[in-house]
Amino acid sequence: MHYCLFLVLCRLCWEPVMTYLYREKQIVMEYFSYHTHTSYCDGKSTAEEMVLRAIELGLKSIGFSSHAPLPNKEPWSMDEILLEAYVDEIEELKVKYTDKIDVYRSLEIDYIPGVTASFKSYKKKAHLDYTIGSVHLVKVDSNSEFWFLDGPDTNFSHGVEVLFDGDIKNAVTAYFDQVIEMIITQQPDIVGHIDKVKMNNKGRYFSEDDKWYLDLLDKTIIALKESDCIVEVNTRGIYKKKSGTFFPDAYFLKQCLKYDIPVTISSDAHHVDELISVFDSAQEMLKRIGFVSVRVFEGDIWCDHPL
Ligand SMILES: [Zn+2]
Ligand SMILES: [Zn+2]
Repeated sequence: MHYCLFLVLCRLCWEPVMTYLYREKQIVMEYFSYHTHTSYCDGKSTAEEMVLRAIELGLKSIGFSSHAPLPNKEPWSMDEILLEAYVDEIEELKVKYTDKIDVYRSLEIDYIPGVTASFKSYKKKAHLDYTIGSVHLVKVDSNSEFWFLDGPDTNFSHGVEVLFDGDIKNAVTAYFDQVIEMIITQQPDIVGHIDKVKMNNKGRYFSEDDKWYLDLLDKTIIALKESDCIVEVNTRGIYKKKSGTFFPDAYFLKQCLKYDIPVTISSDAHHVDELISVFDSAQEMLKRIGFVSVRVFEGDIWCDHPL
């Protein structure tokens, strides 16, 4: 009798302990990197260096997403001539490290209406497992020059002052309209750093609490709601000290939760040391907001994984 009671007590205590340990193990196992650049574009590490570090860090999977070739090459985009080698090398890495890590092939594809090819054509040509769609270059009506949002903040101010005649509202609206058009027409698996337009603002032109800005975020949420796209919580702005908040931050993510829009976490690594930078803080923030899962890629399908 006493022995039975002992067994029951053991079982009662053991299960929560095992559940806790299992969850802890899952937390370690769930590290992944789907938004990863390499020396094929503006990344500073080779694809194999990235894989080796990912294995060292215990990542379950690594997905490569070099900047896709553009009709007019930018200093940060992949040269079209390298695409075949990129496809082949990722394939070799998939096979070589198959017992240690899942390796996926993607591209971070820029969407510029009427300029860039369809995401479907990139997916087919480069045999991509999934696509990341981003806007770095905003098309300005009647102008052959694009507004480049990234790099030094002088790019940002030049665009606002010269291409948009100082009209920040028009400029930011043009950015989000392009993002929305990308979501609707290209349906990328992941939308990259969706509010990156805020990065180089640095409080100079607008406040992220301005009603017109929040209205643009809400309009973007409506487009996402009608799509199957995943929103990434991009940590790069924080660890590169270019932004005090994630792309996107809490307000937008709360709306994602409200409308059941899935999220994942991306470090947008350009170097082996950045593979899971600030990943834990992003997880914590998502949990605080109320998310219980993030999207992870499993073979050929996106699944919800508990946070
Ligand atoms: Zn990007
Ligand atoms: Zn990127």
